[in-house]
Amino acid sequence: MEYYDIIIVGSGPAGLGAAFQLIEQKPDLKIAIIEKSKISSGGFRNDGKQNYTYPIGFEEKYWDKAQAEYYLDAAKLILDPDILTRANMDKYHKRIEKIEKNIRLVEVDQAHIGTDKASAYIRALTDRLKKLGVVFLYSTELDSIDEKAKEIMCINSSDKQILHIYRYHKLVIAPGRKGIGFLQEVMDQLKIEYADYIIDIGVRAEAKRENYRIVDDYYDPKIYLPGKVRTFCTNSGYAIVKRDPTCRFSVNGEALSAEKGSNNLINFALLKTMKLTEPISSGREFAEIIGKMILGISKGKLIMQRVGDFRCKKRSTAETFNDHDLGYDFLPTYQANPGDIALGPLKIILPIWEAFKYLDKIVPGILHPSTVLYFPEIKMYANKPEFLDNYFQAYPDIYLIGDGAGTSRGITGAWASGARAADGILKSL
Ligand SMILES: Cc1cc2nc3c(=O)[nH]c(=O)nc-3n(C[C@H](O)[C@H](O)[C@H](O)COP(=O)(O)OP(=O)(O)OC[C@H]3O[C@@H](n4cnc5c(N)ncnc54)[C@H](O)[C@@H]3O)c2cc1C
Repeated sequence: MEYYDIIIVGSGPAGLGAAFQLIEQKPDLKIAIIEKSKISSGGFRNDGKQNYTYPIGFEEKYWDKAQAEYYLDAAKLILDPDILTRANMDKYHKRIEKIEKNIRLVEVDQAHIGTDKASAYIRALTDRLKKLGVVFLYSTELDSIDEKAKEIMCINSSDKQILHIYRYHKLVIAPGRKGIGFLQEVMDQLKIEYADYIIDIGVRAEAKRENYRIVDDYYDPKIYLPGKVRTFCTNSGYAIVKRDPTCRFSVNGEALSAEKGSNNLINFALLKTMKLTEPISSGREFAEIIGKMILGISKGKLIMQRVGDFRCKKRSTAETFNDHDLGYDFLPTYQANPGDIALGPLKIILPIWEAFKYLDKIVPGILHPSTVLYFPEIKMYANKPEFLDNYFQAYPDIYLIGDGAGTSRGITGAWASGARAADGILKSL
C-alpha cells in the first residue's frame, strides 16, 4: 500500500492550485494527484477565460475581497496571464445609468487562452509540477474513503476494476461540477453538513458579432441585470456553442485563441440565480429534472429557438430555422433541436426575457430575430459544506475545494481555493 503525505483528487485548476502551493512551500512533501481521466482534463481544457477581479468566480459565502485578491495575486505568478484591455467603458456605464439604476456593469481583469491552446497550457503546468516531484496517477478514480484508516480505494476508471489502495495524511478532494453528486455521497458518509439550494439556470444566446458589439470593447462583459440575472461566459473571435462536458443537460460555450481568427459569431449565457427554499431538498435534482424534461420532449437533444420565433410566440422548426427570408442568416454552431424555450419554467424564462430587453438597450442588436437561444444552460454550485476551519477542511484531514465543493465558480476561484486549502495544510503540518 503506497503512502503519500497529501493526496489530491482531481487535476483541474483547484487540484493544481493546491499542488503548486504545497510543493513550492514545502518541496519535500510526497504528493500525488489522482485523476480519473487519461490526461489532466479539468476546466483548463475548455476555453480558458481567467478572471482576476473579485467576486467573479468566487463564492461570497466563503471569500472576502482581501482573501480573494491575495490568492489571485499569487495565482498570477504561476499562471502568468496576459490581461486584455477594455475600452469605451464610460459609454456603457452612462447608458446603463439612464436605463435602469439596478443594472451593473462590472469591470473585470481577464485573460483568455482559447480551447486550441489548452493542451499545451496544461502540459506546461503539469510538467512543472512533475519536475518538482508531484506524482500524477491517471485513469485512477477515487471510489471510496476509509476515513478512520486514512485510506482511499481507487478503481481504474475505464474498466472499474479495483486498482489500488493509497494511504494519506491529508486528503484534498476537487472533483469539479461533474463530481457534485459524488461529493454529496462523500459528505453523507462523513456526516458533513451541507446545503444544496442554489443553482444558476438560463439560456445561451448565439448571435452575429455585429449584433453584440460590446465584445469589441470588453472580452467577457459582466452585466448584472434585474431579476438576479447576469451575463456569463461570453465568447467571441472563433466562438462555438457545445454540450457541456460536465453536465449532459446543459449547453456551454467556448472560443478558440485569437490566432484562429473569427467566425463572426458570439455567444454568452444569461443565467438566473435561483435560491430554492423548503420543501425543495436538492438544487442539483431540481436542475436535473428541468434538463431531463427538455431532453425527454426533444428526443435526447437540448432545444434552440430563434428570437424572431420567440417574439411571435411560435416554436422554431427545422424547416424555417435557417430561412434567410425571415432574417435567419447564420447557421447555429451547435445542433440542438429547434423548439420552444417557453417550455421552460416561467420563473426562469420570464426574468431572462426581461433581462434580454434591458441588454438590448445597452447593446442594441442582441434581440435581432436571427439570435439563437439555447435552453437550458445549467450551472450547479450546489454544495455548500459546513467547513471546520477557514481552509476548507470539512472533516479532520479532509479538504473539499473547487466548483464541486461550491467554493468557486470558475478557473481562478478554483485555483485560489486549492491554494487556500494548501495553506491550511501547511499550517497544520
Ligand atoms: C465548456 C466549458 C467552458 C468553461 N469555460 C470557462 C472559462 O472560460 N473560464 C472559467 O473561469 N471557467 C470556465 N469553465 C468552468 C471551469 O471549467 C470550472 O470553474 C473549473 O474547471 C473548476 O475547477 P475544479 O478544479 O473545481 O474542477 P474541474 O476543472 O472540473 O476538475 C475536476 C477534475 O477532477 C476529476 N475527477 C472528478 N471526480 C474524480 C474522482 N472520483 N476521482 C479522480 N478524479 C476525479 C475530473 O476528471 C477533473 O479532471 C468552463 C466550463 C466548461 C464545461
